[in-house]
Amino acid sequence: MNLRLHNSLTRRTEDFVPQDPNRVTLYVCGPTVYNYVHIGNARPPVVFALLARLLRRHFSGVVYARNITDVDDKINEAARQSGLPISGITERFAAAYRDDMSKLGVDPPDVEPHATTHIPQIIAMCERLIASGHAYVAEHHVLFDVTSYADYGHLSGRSVDDMVAGARVEVAPYKKNPADFVLWKPSSSDLPGWDSPWGRGRPGWHIECSAMSETHLGETIDIHAGGVDLLFPHHENEVAQSTCAHGGKPFARYWLHNGMLTLEGRKMSKSVGNTQVLHELLEIYPPEVLRFVLLKAHYRQPLDWSDAALRQARATLDGWYGVLRDLTDVEVADADVPTEFEAALLDDLNTPDAFAILAGLADAARRSAGTADATDAKSRLLAAAALVGLLQQDCESWFKQVPAGAEVDAARVDALIAERNAARAARDYARADQIRAELASMNVTIEDGAQGTRWRVGA
Ligand SMILES: [Zn+2]
Repeated sequence: MNLRLHNSLTRRTEDFVPQDPNRVTLYVCGPTVYNYVHIGNARPPVVFALLARLLRRHFSGVVYARNITDVDDKINEAARQSGLPISGITERFAAAYRDDMSKLGVDPPDVEPHATTHIPQIIAMCERLIASGHAYVAEHHVLFDVTSYADYGHLSGRSVDDMVAGARVEVAPYKKNPADFVLWKPSSSDLPGWDSPWGRGRPGWHIECSAMSETHLGETIDIHAGGVDLLFPHHENEVAQSTCAHGGKPFARYWLHNGMLTLEGRKMSKSVGNTQVLHELLEIYPPEVLRFVLLKAHYRQPLDWSDAALRQARATLDGWYGVLRDLTDVEVADADVPTEFEAALLDDLNTPDAFAILAGLADAARRSAGTADATDAKSRLLAAAALVGLLQQDCESWFKQVPAGAEVDAARVDALIAERNAARAARDYARADQIRAELASMNVTIEDGAQGTRWRVGA
């Protein structure tokens, strides 16, 4: 089975062939740590950690780097507004990010480089770009000269004229060309800064990814990934810097971009004010519900985040966990991930196809109850779900999880159910109905079945 990936660089879906199958290299642009991330920011780490998982199954060595941007004007502003030191802001929100990712079932990267611990590498890369005529110094800034790189605009498919006409570039008097971008800029004494040949200053955003990617993964890497919103200018500028700093060697061989999230059909963005904060969603929904919605659409397509999508994901997972609960007494054996399921994922991470196959595996497991196939069917369902990070919870606890802010006293529920069963045995149906109503008022639903009375939180 071959992994195929849609490469933004060639605009085609291609067989993935690494430079060195013993050391496959993957770089994903990580968060700027000045606040909790919104749900749209969770899509790339979820999708590309799944890609890293697939790579590890097919190649003997993988190095996956996802950076932390801990020097940025948004961080400076957050520190100024809160009165906290900058390191207080960055450490707090980097820790929150790791914690939220872990809850979401995202495997940590092998390397998590921080921009502020790579300042010497960033300065060295700026010096190389100046020495080779691709960058220049002006008023304590170092700027990349876009006219020095003929392929500038190739990745994003834009011409320099379009970029300037579209006012996507910052106009400044010290720039030779309006599209030139900052590699290094001066810092006043109240802002984070490091000594450099151009005075005390701090790096621009784009250069950090080029420097950290070079440091940890080498000059030419296999895959670089991120949201399609980063295609221009961030990724275009990374290509220009890295290619020119490395004497024309290609930077990333495959570029992957995920589509953006909308919220109830509208563009989701901080400036519009309609974002949902991942940290808060994790207090309301089981993490697997969020993970499932994030993976349900194909990663290159836009994804609409909505209450309906959350409800539907919850209902599907309830159904699959219900199958497992009916098979509680069935042993689980070691099982390979079903071939067609993995084949769907290897086809440019086709999660919609993979989830259709997963639904079929759940149906097969449901039908296998009470037959000799039950162990096999249950084990295949669990093996497939594990690869995408679903059905990882104990099925009883799945149905009894309580959202933050609500409270359910499990011992009290169990006692009421025992009392109801006793009332039913004594044919006191009025009392049994009364107890069912009392449980419903506690947001607990009960189901009577062959295996006794079960309960869950919610309708
Ligand atoms: Zn980046």
